[in-house]
Amino acid sequence: MLSEAPPKLALAHLPTPLWHSAALDRLAGAEVWVKRDDMTAGAEAGNKIRKLEYLLADAERRGARVVLTCGAAQSNHARATALLARSRGLRAVLFLRTTEASPARTGNLLLDELAGAELRWITPEQYRERDALMAEAAEALLAAGETPYVIPEGGSNALGSLGYADAARELRQQLDLGLGPARRAGDRASAAPFPFSRVVVACGSGGTAAGLQLGVRHFGVCERVEAIAVCDDRATFEARIGALVREMSALVPGLDEPAALTVHDAFKGPAYGVPSAEQRALLRRVARDCGLVLDPVYTVKALHGLIELAEPNERLLFMHTGGLPGLLAGGDGIFE
Ligand SMILES: *Cc1c(COP(=O)(O)O)cnc(C)c1O
Repeated sequence: MLSEAPPKLALAHLPTPLWHSAALDRLAGAEVWVKRDDMTAGAEAGNKIRKLEYLLADAERRGARVVLTCGAAQSNHARATALLARSRGLRAVLFLRTTEASPARTGNLLLDELAGAELRWITPEQYRERDALMAEAAEALLAAGETPYVIPEGGSNALGSLGYADAARELRQQLDLGLGPARRAGDRASAAPFPFSRVVVACGSGGTAAGLQLGVRHFGVCERVEAIAVCDDRATFEARIGALVREMSALVPGLDEPAALTVHDAFKGPAYGVPSAEQRALLRRVARDCGLVLDPVYTVKALHGLIELAEPNERLLFMHTGGLPGLLAGGDGIFE
């Protein structure tokens, strides 16, 4: 945990592996190390658990018995919240966005239902007012004598995003233990030996990129964050991540030297949740050549970005944020 940071629960299985594959290097045309945050847990795995360690600690401290959150029908965040809430004896209410009359109970949604979460279906129009909708529902629960706790989309407020500053610290510890790349001759010469040139991460609600931006330079991992947007656009995320970084710095004094951040919105594919034919082929190829399974919503787009951005002789860090249930929900569409 960051010193002076708010308290958090221990929910994730940490540290997650720092993984390297010669086959992935060849495919990417650069040296790529993968931080396997797809392995933070069992069915609740992925990046959201690091945020929920802070958020559910806060919920419990406030005596909450029911947590409210939101996302797409196949939201990884909603699924992680549903499972982890139950593991803490809390109820979960999920506001899920759909245009379908009855979305298929597969993947994340299957797990939401297994965990007994209460599902409230909302349209994309209603989703734009998600914060107001959840505040209203929380009021109603409060009036009914319950103690609700609202978690924003993706768990991406300042408190949740601290989980990814912690992930940077975890990386530093792994590097100190010799679990990362061997030092190259040139590394020693620089006063601040950053083992990686940059970290590449998918960006959906911004909290993961914001936490990394604040953590990776501070803990000596790298000086640049490449956030690969899967929705919205560059300006939107720059503003959102900038605000999160300022709020986090205020929460944890001393954590105030953010890395450089670039948001890329050229790798979104045809739509949110829809990979291009090229991205589907990349997902298949990475699985077949490297035994590494990406997801179609986030990580295949992020790795596509990494491959386009990587320069020969570079050593990059790829943050694998999870998403397996979303791949399984898509069935054999990935082979098209
Ligand atoms: C939510 C999610 C992301 C994006 O993280 P944000 O903090 O919301 O930007 C990336 N990958 C996966 C698999 C996710 O579920």
